[in-house]
Amino acid sequence: MKVLVAVKRVIDYNVKVRVKADQSDVDLANVKMALNPFCEIAVEEAVRLKEQGVATEVVVVSVGSKACQEQLRTALALGADRALQVEAADGPDSLSVARILAKVAEEEKPDLILLGKQAIDSDNNQTGQMLAALLDRPQATFASEVKVEGGELLVTREVDGGLQTLKLTLPAVVTTDLRLNEPRYASLPNIMKAKKKPLDVKTAEELGVIVASQVKLLKVEPPADRKAGIRVSSIEELVDKLRNEAKVIA
Ligand code: AMP
Repeated sequence: MKVLVAVKRVIDYNVKVRVKADQSDVDLANVKMALNPFCEIAVEEAVRLKEQGVATEVVVVSVGSKACQEQLRTALALGADRALQVEAADGPDSLSVARILAKVAEEEKPDLILLGKQAIDSDNNQTGQMLAALLDRPQATFASEVKVEGGELLVTREVDGGLQTLKLTLPAVVTTDLRLNEPRYASLPNIMKAKKKPLDVKTAEELGVIVASQVKLLKVEPPADRKAGIRVSSIEELVDKLRNEAKVIA
């Protein structure tokens, strides 16, 4: 079974995001970038499937500028076998990414495609769903458990009322949730080995996709500054403020 994992380069989740002075976007200058955490979970799951003898090959793909090769190398250090960077100007919209991934899937013919449930920079939560639709493949989103049984895929999803288990025929598209697994740290020998693993580069045009964004970012605003808290001297004063100032209790 071949597994394709889509990974995105995003701002590291520990970084406090700054907005550009003209509010045109988030400021990426000199900011630490990382593998999107949900993509890291997707890579980990693919590598575990390989370790269980279920998957035979794990291919990682990222759409973006040359800089995203850094995150592809991280995925290779975590255990992926080879990588593909699809060169495209940074910030392609989800539909363009999904179209590119669909072309990659047509060429690679994976049995399973894993994506993160969302990228923590854009919070779109839509690329996996678009990809499944473009490929006309079954999809399971927000997976918290993935098992391959008799050529079919059993996916557990966390829904409001509890846990839902779906059975999918392969090939399928699955997006990963936080509790699916806890990704390993890449060891130094594996980081060294990853430098020698194959990393191909293709352009979107070579795949026959014209990246034309149908979504335009108009403005980014930082959240309002939080007001400083106040200290109350008694429970009565607290209840009074909650009732008469904040109006959160009757
Ligand atoms: P989104 O729909 O943007 O929230 O992203 C969901 C998932 O789609 C991510 O976790 C990745 O697995 C995949 N994805 C989004 N953008 C890219 C990209 N530029 N390159 C590769 N995969 C991507």
